[in-house]
Amino acid sequence: MCRCSSRPAATAPTVAADEVVARCRELARISDEHGRLTRVFGGPGMERANDLVGRWMEEAGMAARVDAARNLVGHLPGSEADAGTLLLGSHLDTVRDAGAFDGPLGVLCAIDCVARLRAEEVTLPFALDVLGFSDEEGVRFGSAYLGSRALAGTLDDALLDRADDDGVTVRGALGGTAAQASRAGERLLGYCEVHIEQGPVLEERELPVGVVAAIAGATRAEVRFRGRAGHAGTVPMALRRDAAAALAELVLAVEAVGRSADGLVATVGRLEVRPGAPNVVPGEALGTIDVRHADDAVRAGAVAAIRARAAAIAEARGVETTWRDLLETAAVAMDPALSDRLAAAVRAAGVEPLRLASGAGHDAVALAGTAPVAMLFVRCAGGVSHHPDEAVDAADVAVALDVLDAFVRGLA
Ligand SMILES: [Zn+2]
Repeated sequence: MCRCSSRPAATAPTVAADEVVARCRELARISDEHGRLTRVFGGPGMERANDLVGRWMEEAGMAARVDAARNLVGHLPGSEADAGTLLLGSHLDTVRDAGAFDGPLGVLCAIDCVARLRAEEVTLPFALDVLGFSDEEGVRFGSAYLGSRALAGTLDDALLDRADDDGVTVRGALGGTAAQASRAGERLLGYCEVHIEQGPVLEERELPVGVVAAIAGATRAEVRFRGRAGHAGTVPMALRRDAAAALAELVLAVEAVGRSADGLVATVGRLEVRPGAPNVVPGEALGTIDVRHADDAVRAGAVAAIRARAAAIAEARGVETTWRDLLETAAVAMDPALSDRLAAAVRAAGVEPLRLASGAGHDAVALAGTAPVAMLFVRCAGGVSHHPDEAVDAADVAVALDVLDAFVRGLA
């Protein structure tokens, strides 16, 4: 799409924090749907977003292109040919009815970082690529990190054969050339992403930014209790085998397990009771369990404790229980050396460098096997994300920009 900018270095404008926020808001008006923000992989919104952000990349002095996996790539060459490439960025796709900052904030902070270097006529020895990933949220194909997995060279047949609601496969959507997006053979110095926290920890600690220590691993499962349905008026309490009461007991047990260790979270997010009539003792009840922690052993221990509780509750109540695993992802640790550099840059900005785990997944998960990864979280209002109310403070973004700038210059 875009061509190399002919703009001389010294005139590339820096974009202040206010402008980064304004650009996120402007980008949020580009959507696949009328009246709400939704940009999915390969949709018309992504194409227009890539055009607009590509233009901003060129204004900052980069050459912009769209790769074979529809990732937007802005390139700033370094002074030494064999010094490798540092990757910065985030994703430009969104969930349905999204907010303005989850994803775009990281791309726009990275663009400002380049603009600042150019404005001050700083030349880095290594090349710098700013990425706008095409599919982090996984809305269209139900599988996250499509763009970053393509870049990492880890797209497999199972993913390529996945189809969207219209029967179009990933392979079909990419036109069979996705492998060309792989950067796995290159000398990649690292990937650093700025992202909103999506949680309330920084707000509670009154910190503008924080350094991500790890992205939590997750277990998702479905637990089912089978008792005996009966008439709510005629079956005496002593003779009941109430599946819903068993599940209710487990919900509280899951909450207690979640509270039992620092950083552990455990949730029953979906409840279903059958037959689901006011005058019938429930014969069957099922709930989903979601457990996350940055340490896989802690998570495994919590899951085992919940399973044991489910079995004990079933036995005590004379109901049957079954457990079905739905998903399991391992925790991904951030690179210690890059994270230390990021923490030093946070401290240099006058902020205590709090290390925190990310409960949500990010493109860094897909890239961790290909390049050292690091992430900087920015405080967001109320910890709200994946919602139109998402908001960040420009003063916090200003800190993130200073941190990113110091981090990149420090690597040089
Ligand atoms: Zn995101």
